[in-house]
Amino acid sequence: MTAIPVTIGMPRTGVRDLPLPAALRAAAVDPGATIGDPLVDTHGRVHRDLRISLTDRCSLRCTYCMPEQGNEWLARSSILALDEIERIARVAAADGITTFRLTGGEPLLRTDIVEVVRRLAAISGPAGPVEIAMTTNGIRLPELLPGLVEAGLGRLNVSIDTLRRDRFHALTRRDRLDDVLAGIAAAAASGLRPLKLNAVAMRDVNDDELVELVEFAIGCGAQLRFIEQMPLDAGHTWDRARMVTRDEILATLSARWSLTPVAGRGGAPAERWTLDGGPHTVGVIASVTAPFCGDCDRLRLTADGQLRNCLFSTTEYDLVPVLRGASGGGEDVAIDAMLRSCVHGKLPGHAINDPSFLQPARGMNAIGG
Ligand code: SAM
Ligand code: SF4
Repeated sequence: MTAIPVTIGMPRTGVRDLPLPAALRAAAVDPGATIGDPLVDTHGRVHRDLRISLTDRCSLRCTYCMPEQGNEWLARSSILALDEIERIARVAAADGITTFRLTGGEPLLRTDIVEVVRRLAAISGPAGPVEIAMTTNGIRLPELLPGLVEAGLGRLNVSIDTLRRDRFHALTRRDRLDDVLAGIAAAAASGLRPLKLNAVAMRDVNDDELVELVEFAIGCGAQLRFIEQMPLDAGHTWDRARMVTRDEILATLSARWSLTPVAGRGGAPAERWTLDGGPHTVGVIASVTAPFCGDCDRLRLTADGQLRNCLFSTTEYDLVPVLRGASGGGEDVAIDAMLRSCVHGKLPGHAINDPSFLQPARGMNAIGG
């Protein structure tokens, strides 16, 4: 099976992104590697985390992620079925993936979400059972969380950018702050830990609320993680000059707390600091001003079956012919080959800061955050 990468839109230029012909790229994959071998890229990074997007649909319309109207939804027939996701996940786990993070769009909109968690949580790899995590806007958590925990959900990240109703409405284009707060309360009561709350820091939107958000998270027994806004909005309106940077976030928090860096970040996207010596901590995910690509251990699977080796990549590796091919498809060796080809094609870093950077055609909701 030859893994064929598909370039979406114009390929980026630059020395780190030479457009290797597909045949050459495939030939460069270690011919000896097979199911059960770790997914190591050409820069020595071992991949252990697969982000699985379950849908591109969402109950909110966050301005930094989706347009209000005119979004081109993925065709329902193209969305992977649970059996297809499970088949990919089993091979990925055999290859050393230890965490599946379910995301979207809004993963809780998927009607079979409890069964997705149950089937994936039953998978084991060489290191033992996999961990199932989820990133959600929280809106359906009160009704779904008991079933998700019983099915094997291990960790939760809930996104909340503001605690003010008018701002929430303007930012998400939906008046649903109370539903999100109810979801966070359910998550806090569930005992799933560590519980993380994500907030994208935005100038003149919520940058005067950073301390309040951290205090809110502490009150919930959660850790707040601020995310630098990235050029992944479907409307392509990101403006570097207006984004709130890691250093600005830290300066604001330092006026309230004494921050001490926490060592041992590993492959985690967030840098962490203790607040006044601990035990509480805050995290910052600074993908733009302090990229952490050198330690990246993540791969992504879109809801329509495209493997991606980076949020910002313009190349995708299409698993659909493997899963739905005329031959019946779905052979584990073919899925394994596609995973390896995707890993092999991973660049040392993203190119947000290069003048030649081109935003991926997909918005964040269709990639999977
Ligand atoms: N709907 C779920 C949610 O909002 O948590 C999961 C999907 S969402 C795409 C995952 C995460 O990506 C959220 O924390 C969201 O704030 C973040 N995100 C979306 N667009 C972003 C952007 N342009 N820059 C930075 N973070 C973004
Ligand atoms: Fe929906 Fe999450 Fe995107 Fe907001 S960030 S629009 S909640 S997918």
